[in-house]
Order: sequence, then structure tokens, then C-alpha cells
Amino acid sequence: MRVPLLDLSAQYDLLAEPIRREFDEILRTQNFILGPKVEEFERALAEYCGARHAIGVSSGTDAQLAILMALGLAPGDAVITTAYTFFATAGCIARLGATPLFVDIDPATFNISPAALAQFLQRHCRRNAANQVIDGAGRTVRAIIPVHLFGLCCEMDPINEIAARYELTVIEDAAQAIGAEYPSKAGMRQAGTMSLVGSFSFYPSKNLGAAGDAGAIVCDDDGLAQRFRIFRQHGMEPRYFHHFIGGNFRLDALQAAILKVKLPYLNRWSAARRAVADIYREEFSRSRLTNRITLPAEPYRERGLTNHHIYHQFVIRTPRRDELQQHLTARGIGSAIYYPLGLHEQKCFAGLGYGPGDLLETERAARETLALPIYPELTLEMQREVVDVIAEFFA
Ligand SMILES: *Cc1c(COP(=O)(O)O)cnc(C)c1O
Repeated sequence: MRVPLLDLSAQYDLLAEPIRREFDEILRTQNFILGPKVEEFERALAEYCGARHAIGVSSGTDAQLAILMALGLAPGDAVITTAYTFFATAGCIARLGATPLFVDIDPATFNISPAALAQFLQRHCRRNAANQVIDGAGRTVRAIIPVHLFGLCCEMDPINEIAARYELTVIEDAAQAIGAEYPSKAGMRQAGTMSLVGSFSFYPSKNLGAAGDAGAIVCDDDGLAQRFRIFRQHGMEPRYFHHFIGGNFRLDALQAAILKVKLPYLNRWSAARRAVADIYREEFSRSRLTNRITLPAEPYRERGLTNHHIYHQFVIRTPRRDELQQHLTARGIGSAIYYPLGLHEQKCFAGLGYGPGDLLETERAARETLALPIYPELTLEMQREVVDVIAEFFA
């Protein structure tokens, strides 16, 4: 039996009717740019995640770029983030002439390690006369970007405490974690809303996927939200009067409409993904594989949360990862490596001066992790096939 890594067609079959109705209406009115469809989706999204404002943008990457532009990131600045993430997180920093500074991950969750973050600031940064945080090369450290990887929130309480101590801005990359909850000391909080500003991606394969590229920015501050809206349209307000150098980061009405149709289903889909994850756990333990592979950690499971993990990916690890993937491919089972290289080892960042051994846990994760098929419509039979084929490999 073939088991694809992801199959989006079942979700479309469920929602084809309402999506087509929305598209027909937009095509009839020819209202493609911003307008009521975008505003309706922005309101629904803000309400869903408990933020005061949501600003629809053209992609998750553009959300991050617009945020950093609006916050005035410039050459000579630096931003601390993780190297175990999709390229965009660091790419947006570098595109503005600023420098990404990488700290290592927690090997259990793959998220940025608060201990490594604290250590980096303590050992490699100092305060100047103006009380700014300066790194070893004299750059001004402006912000920290934690990434809620694979659908699990970072440990935001310690991250926010460290950031407050150094007066650094925190910007969440919540591209993979829409709806994921965190048991903060202040109560349950959702990914993207635990810091100054957060970003989402609605790339088709994300848990809430558009029919193309789309993204959003969420924040609570009224002035900041207005600033993001202006940056989304070439820094323009009103039309043809440019306060800032922004970009075209608008969300299409067609994308907003499909996202608005899908949003009410998101919690159901996340619950279905968790059920798939639970079945994997049972089947792997029944097949006595839990000493061969490491299953994803669920640190917030027993803390009274619903979306303690939204399983954007179900990622296992084994030192025999490459052989295992070959075996799965040969048997028609989809899998993927997120990510084969830490960003600090990417060719385009060679100029940053990192080398092998600088981020040991990131490098080990890049060698050992493998994402298995997970989506709401994955059947028990398909999951058993995945586990059987893995058992066969280790037999
Ligand atoms: C998908 C993703 C992005 C970029 O989103 P796009 O919508 O593809 O531009 C950024 N960061 C992370 C962690 C992602 O997974």
C-alpha cells in the first residue's frame, strides 16, 4: 500500500462547495485586492487566536519581512534565532542587512533552548553605554525569534523572561503552529500571541492552508498593527503618500476567502492529527520500536490544554535515518527530512563564520530526524502499514 506524506485532496472534497461559492462571488465582483473578504478573515483569525489584531499578508515569509521592516531592523543589527528551522526565519533578517545569530535547540523538542539562549547572551554579549545589547562583533542585538517548530510551542515563559532582562523584542515565528497552546504562568496562550508580534504561514501544506501563498501577522498593539498595515502597502497612507519604504505584502481576497471557509475546521483537524499521533505511539510501542526510534516529545500534554501539540509534523529520530528513509521510499511510504542542514551550515550563510560543531544538537537533529505521514484523513490501515514497514527495517 502506498502512503503519501500528505494528501490534501480529501480536505478539498469536504469543502469544495463553500469554497467554490466564495470564489464565484469574488470573480463576479472582481474585488481581488484586500476588501471585505480579507477583513472578514482577519477578524475571524484574531478572534481564533485571542489577539486584538490580525493582518493578512502574502506569505509567512512576507509576514516576517514586513514585521522586521516595520520594527526598523537595519544593517549593524542582529537577531537571535534558531538554525533548525525553515530558511525564511533567518533569510528575512539577512535580507534587511542584519545578522542572524544562532543558538542551539533543545534535543527533546527541537525548539530553541532557553538555557542556550541565556548562555549566549551571558557569554557573547555585553551592554554598551546606552544599555543596548552588543554581540562579540559589535552588532546591536535587537530581537529574539523563537520558532514553534512542528506544531509545538517553545518554552515562552523563560524566553520572555530572558528577553525582558535584556530588553529585547520577541517575535514569534508561528508558521507551523497555528492554534498550538502553551501553559504560560499567566494562563493558556496561543502560538503567535505570547510576544510583541507573531507570524503565520498558510502555505498549502501548513495546518491551515490556502490555495497558494498566504500568511498573517498578529499583535495586540493598535499602533503597531496600523504600522504593519501601512508596510503591507508600500508604506503608503493615504494612497500615493509614502511614509516608509514598505512592500507589496497584501493577502489576496481569494486566499482570504478559502482560509475563512477552512478556519472553523482547524481545531477539529488538529484533534484528528493528535489522534493519529496517539495511534503512532500505540503502534510503535506494540511493535517494540520505542527503543529504536525516539518519538516526538509532548511536554505540555497533561497541563489542561487542548491543542498542547498540533502535529504539523510527526517527527521521529534515529541515527539510521538515511537508511530508514530509503527503505520507506522503496516501500512506497512518504517521508521527509526537516531539515537536512542547520541554517548555520547553509552555503548562503557561510559568511557568518559558523562551522560544524558550533550547534551540536541542531547538527545531530539534521542527521537523525524523519517526518512521517500525518494528516487528519490518514487511515488506521495506512498508519499500520507505516509502522510495519519501519518494524521490517529494524527487524
Ligand atoms: C513555512 C514557514 C515559513 C514561511 O512561510 P511561507 O508562507 O512559505 O513563506 C517560515 N517559517 C517557518 C518555520 C515555516 O515553516
